[in-house]
Amino acid sequence: MPTEHHLMATYGRLPVAFTHGEGAWLWDKNGRKYLDGLAGVAVNSLGHAHPAVIDAICTQSRRLIHTSNWYEIPGQEALGAKLCEIAHMDRVFFANSGAEANEAALKLARLYGHRKGIETPAVIVMEGSFHGRTLATLSATGNRKVQAGFEPLVTGFRRVPFNDLGAVKQVRERDQTVVAVLVEPILGEGGIQIPDPGYLKGLRKLCDEAGWLLILDEIQTGMCRSGTWFAWQQENARPDIMTLAKALGNGLPIGACLAHGAAAELFQAGHHGSTFGGNPLACAVASAVITTLDGMQAWERAAVLGARLQGDLKARLAGEPGVRVVRGQGLLLGIELDRPCQAIMKQALGHGLLLNVTAEKVVRLLPPLILSDAETAQLGELTAASIREFLAS
Ligand SMILES: *Cc1c(COP(=O)(O)O)cnc(C)c1O
Repeated sequence: MPTEHHLMATYGRLPVAFTHGEGAWLWDKNGRKYLDGLAGVAVNSLGHAHPAVIDAICTQSRRLIHTSNWYEIPGQEALGAKLCEIAHMDRVFFANSGAEANEAALKLARLYGHRKGIETPAVIVMEGSFHGRTLATLSATGNRKVQAGFEPLVTGFRRVPFNDLGAVKQVRERDQTVVAVLVEPILGEGGIQIPDPGYLKGLRKLCDEAGWLLILDEIQTGMCRSGTWFAWQQENARPDIMTLAKALGNGLPIGACLAHGAAAELFQAGHHGSTFGGNPLACAVASAVITTLDGMQAWERAAVLGARLQGDLKARLAGEPGVRVVRGQGLLLGIELDRPCQAIMKQALGHGLLLNVTAEKVVRLLPPLILSDAETAQLGELTAASIREFLAS
């Protein structure tokens, strides 16, 4: 019996297993190599087997992997200081995943509401958003497929269309229980939807006027991928709370909920916690990731390569009637087709390429930020070839 029968059937897996990787490349057991255009869904920004990550894991794991948050953890304090510096935030809570980081953010929003005497505090969330698979985060998520079958949902969310400041204003006028807005700067799972310029700044202003917290989920956009350390920096729309995970540990699980100003002072002893969160190993690796991204000016590289790849894909796919639009910011790219295109993932494997489909019709590229110029050109070529083959089939 195949061993996969002992795994719960949560994933529709492609028929390939990788044995090792290096940089932007992965190898399967037959020795075939694949260009990684997905980076484990925006996780392996430094690619595979990066020496700085290997070093951090080896050095730290020889000393100490885990103690407990009952004790001081100097590596956690050092990572917290580093993150707050690059993110212009005041304090951090460390978790182990994106969903957990968002849970911490939502708990902060509720605490903030209760402090203001609001007993049923609500958070504005967006259509098409994705915030995770735990009960609160799937309730916040704007995709029925993620929620169906898991009712009753967590209450206290007000949903509005993404990229619509007017809809947020309307909620403000009629609902006194709202305490926060939770939004991704770019919808990732929602199909790489980029809002109009001024949207985040507009939300910041609305939150300031209403006394709400602005919570940005930068789990997919953060850590240089969008062309700046964090996507909000492109509009100088600093949030009160920001969540990170994915690329923060380059594959070692770690999540973070950062806060600025009053939001940073809400959690007190006993309010929240995690056994693993912020352990010495995860923190040593995340510190190494930040130092490495900083040293290579990864935000700049993401912006340059992203613009180049987007231009290349537009040129290569021009005149393909099945391609609706190519869009992106930094190294988050989406190619929207006129039809559902799940099958393209398997077709791309045939071309030695890893990519992904989200929101049914959007081919998504989230490659490592360490791509060389030649690899970037190759990624454009292989992606266009896979799309053309799919559209012709
Ligand atoms: C991936 C993702 C999450 C969930 O992260 P997990 O680590 O899978 O829990 C939440 N928000 C966004 C925007 C994401 O892309």
